[in-house]
Amino acid sequence: MPKILCKCSTVIPLHDIPSPHQLLMISDVQYDQYKATIDAEQLYAEMTLIVKCPGCGRLHIFDEGPSKPAKVYKPEP
Ligand SMILES: [Zn+2]
Repeated sequence: MPKILCKCSTVIPLHDIPSPHQLLMISDVQYDQYKATIDAEQLYAEMTLIVKCPGCGRLHIFDEGPSKPAKVYKPEP
C-alpha cells in the first residue's frame, strides 16, 4: 500500500517510515490488557491503521486489515 487515492483526488503517499499520514488506533479495552513493559511490535500488531488525508481530513480506517477496503469518514463542514 505505497499510496492511497482519496475521494478528494489527493494522492496520499505512504512510503515514508514513519509516515506523517498514518495514525494507529487501539481500543481502551485492548490497551488495558497490557501491563508493565510491553513489546512495541506486539502492540503495533494490535493497532488499527488509519490514513488521514492531508487535503480534506478524511480518515481511511483499515479496521479489517490493510489488505481489505478501508471505511472512510469525512469531517463535518
Ligand atoms: Zn482527501
